[in-house]
Amino acid sequence: MKNTRFEDLNIKAPFLKALTDEGYTAPTPIQSETIPFVLQGLDVMGMAQTGTGKTAAFTLPILQKLNANQSIEKARDPRALILAPTRELAIQINDSIRNYGKYIALKHTVIFGGVKQGPQVKLLGKGMDIIVATPGRLLDLINQGFCSLNKIECFVLDEADRMLDMGFIPDVKKIERATPQKDKRQTLFFSATFPDAIKRFAQSWTNDAVTVEIEPENVAADLVTQINYIVEADDKFKLLYNILEKDNATKILLFCNRKDTAKDLFEKMQQYEISATLLSGDIDQRKRMNRLENFKKGKFKVLVATDVAGRGIHIDAVSHVINYNLPVDPEDYIHRIGRTGRAGEAGISISFACEDDSFNIPNIEEFMKRKLDLVYPDDILLQELPPPKKTLKEVKDSSKPSEVKNKNNTRNNSRNKTGGDNRRPSKPRQPRSKPNTTKPSDSKE
Ligand code: AMP
Repeated sequence: MKNTRFEDLNIKAPFLKALTDEGYTAPTPIQSETIPFVLQGLDVMGMAQTGTGKTAAFTLPILQKLNANQSIEKARDPRALILAPTRELAIQINDSIRNYGKYIALKHTVIFGGVKQGPQVKLLGKGMDIIVATPGRLLDLINQGFCSLNKIECFVLDEADRMLDMGFIPDVKKIERATPQKDKRQTLFFSATFPDAIKRFAQSWTNDAVTVEIEPENVAADLVTQINYIVEADDKFKLLYNILEKDNATKILLFCNRKDTAKDLFEKMQQYEISATLLSGDIDQRKRMNRLENFKKGKFKVLVATDVAGRGIHIDAVSHVINYNLPVDPEDYIHRIGRTGRAGEAGISISFACEDDSFNIPNIEEFMKRKLDLVYPDDILLQELPPPKKTLKEVKDSSKPSEVKNKNNTRNNSRNKTGGDNRRPSKPRQPRSKPNTTKPSDSKE
């Protein structure tokens, strides 16, 4: 759909104005394909992930439809419900609704757990047109009688595969049952992948849904330069340090597979006084939001995250995504690198493949339907580390409980403890197969 404009999709003036304010000049493929169907009232099964412009693909037509058919009741029940797997994603969707709907007067709010319910209950009491929610808290509020879904005209499930992974399906089923029957509502079902379980839900909750598919490799491959370094586990931190020192990496999302690895790495970075903050699932919601905000504002150069915590977050102008560990689930690879190169901007993803995680490469390649270009880092990127500025003990002692959750950590604070993986073998091995040995500078994604 080349040269399609938002006007061609029948998007009306107040939204066109808001889109111009956002700096969007043209719809992305998922928007061009999805918006007309949603405006026609059809159900949609969309295969796409964050980074494709998916949020606007469903929020714009929903806003336009609800706005054309305003409810004048003051204490109105919500007419659109958007479910998302994480608080961060729910907040972002709500922010998008605020931005795209700034020239109309629909009311919307976001509901998520981990915070007091009082303020959310109060807002719901005022009457909302749209609610964006994570399943657990929404179900709690429904069960307590604070929210009714009887008037839902449009039900959106975003990142459905992740909801399944996170064990939300029983809650989502109950929520679905609380909305009007599927022939009396419009259902939009988005998922990065459609494994059988997800397909079954999508089929049973939608009515003759139109399928819209945005190939994952289009997202990743077209916009993101992917560099995959072959590195021994023991050299990973050195490589990271040198990349941060030498590359013009300004805003970096650094992914680890496990929260203990993320925490150890974060502490190691603190030893070297690298500007960084940590986002992992065991850190409470308020702190996570603060840290995310501070990273977005540029107060920290690096955000160390795990997949659960980093899921769906949208941060403008991430220059680099670094996979300190290659993800076990190939989908996470796509999700991670999709944090950079968003909607037309170029991005760089750098992955570290060591003897512990290079066995994940074939799965990733199969999922991406392409070979990963594996390269050895230039010598300059393996230059010896300078001495750390602080000992690990000093870092642990100085970290306020609010910064690093290590109050209950009874492990010995040995100075030799490294920031690398915990499952390190005694002797490094070479990666499982002889890779393409292109020089990084020659490597194209
Ligand atoms: P999403 O996939 O919805 O998370 O969107 C990814 C990013 O793309 C967000 O930063 C959006 O603000 C941005 N975006 C969405 N639609 C467009 C568009 N048509 N043109 C440019 N940027 C967009």
